[in-house]
Amino acid sequence: MPVSAAYRPEPRFFDLGEAYGDAVHAAAFPQTRLRFRNDRAAATVGLETLDDAEWIAHFGRFEPLPGQPGPVAMRYHGHQFRTYNSDLGDGRGFLAAQVLEAPVGARAASDRLVSGGAPQGRLLDLGTKGSGQTPWSRGGDGRLTLKGGVREVLAAEMLEALGVPTSRAFSLIETGEALERGDEPSPTRSAVLVRLSHSHIRFGTFQRAAYFGRADMVETLVEHARALYHPRVAAGDVAGFLREVVAASARLTARWVAAGFVHGVLNTDNLNVTGESFDYGPWRFLPWYEPGFTAAYFDQTGLYAFARQPEAVFWALTQLGGALKLVAEVEPLTEALNGFGPAYIRELRAAFLDRLGVSSLGEAADQRLLDTTLALLREGGEALRWEPLFHDWFGGFASSARALGGPRGKLYQGETFDAFRFALFEHEPDRPDRLEHPVFAAPEPEEMLIDEVEAIWAAIDARDDWGPFEDKVRRIRTAGEARR
Ligand code: AMP
Ligand code: MG
Ligand code: MG
Repeated sequence: MPVSAAYRPEPRFFDLGEAYGDAVHAAAFPQTRLRFRNDRAAATVGLETLDDAEWIAHFGRFEPLPGQPGPVAMRYHGHQFRTYNSDLGDGRGFLAAQVLEAPVGARAASDRLVSGGAPQGRLLDLGTKGSGQTPWSRGGDGRLTLKGGVREVLAAEMLEALGVPTSRAFSLIETGEALERGDEPSPTRSAVLVRLSHSHIRFGTFQRAAYFGRADMVETLVEHARALYHPRVAAGDVAGFLREVVAASARLTARWVAAGFVHGVLNTDNLNVTGESFDYGPWRFLPWYEPGFTAAYFDQTGLYAFARQPEAVFWALTQLGGALKLVAEVEPLTEALNGFGPAYIRELRAAFLDRLGVSSLGEAADQRLLDTTLALLREGGEALRWEPLFHDWFGGFASSARALGGPRGKLYQGETFDAFRFALFEHEPDRPDRLEHPVFAAPEPEEMLIDEVEAIWAAIDARDDWGPFEDKVRRIRTAGEARR
């Protein structure tokens, strides 16, 4: 049987009409070798029952799934590193299908945590990367490197395990072309990726409508995105819509920061209305606290460095707000934007509490724990690795004690560490014995630093050895389950 009963096609982007996307065809690839299929994600949309041949037909050759009208390349503009580009759009991808997620009750517990609070299931996109040229390819070949595809799978798996709202890598198929890329050994292998995500409607989608002075199109887009993605907002309440996007974006940014994640390219075409992160190119995870840590080699000024991500997202939101000025008063829009700072701080507390595995004791105590955690990370410098700190409540304590008790033993005895310990005690008053807890000897948690990613790729490229890649995905998933 091809699709299961849980498969529910819902191609709503087409409601918008023809001015928002273009019907396209996928490239005819010389080869389609299945490298990764995410059956866990597929089960949430009733597609895990496809056999490999059917999977390749839909996600390598892009024969439309039942009830889907066929690929459409989305139109959008955007600011790239703060410079406006009216020549963007889906240049190497398209929207392949839209589907409803299975209702909460019908999903595995691990998947309920991924998607949060939409009891009937959210509207999800199956979007591609590397599926061939479109009217928006400019000079580009429309292709994705296999290495880029492997990197997107790893980033999405890691973020999901860390509780960050993220698209999921759904399928990766190697396509047998030799790609010329300047920045890596050329030629390099090609692939087509499919991601399952909660909307590809970007800030830049609105910017494009505003650029053409089309208030009617801005209004159509707001209503479309409001009804599908923020239905709690009343029809016509544009500022209310912006408020929801601001809140979701603040939450996303806080979760990146607590995860030690640097997205790398926070252009307005890489941020969407649901606050779910997507499009993982030159991302990196922090090894230790380093505010200026920058992921993309071409980000020479560090515009999208680790600690500048809140500012970058806020700036992007102001551009969305600017587009919405065509259909709403400035004052309520400004007010909605001003909600970003407070929301971000609130979300940062929640995100760090989650990572430390302790529950809230109210704003003041939570803030104290956040402040001391950040101070500890700052003072710990290279001796205090980011990921082990958050292993879990005890493991974090143990790892930081180990790390700080080594080369920087003074800090272990120091004021910041004591303050951190005190703040943790405050959150777990009934466990004074925790220093003796066996979890002190717990294994290190999963982390994913650039050297490991490069080693995984090297094994694939040199020997076609997918073992390290598959092992890594398995370990990330196991660690993610343990965290919950
Ligand atoms: P990205 O950096 O992946 O977010 O892409 C930015 C813009 O460049 C988008 O409009 C992409 O569709 C386009 N783009 C990136 N790579 C290619 C490529 N190889 N061929 C055509 N368009 C591309
Ligand atoms: Mg992009
Ligand atoms: Mg990209």
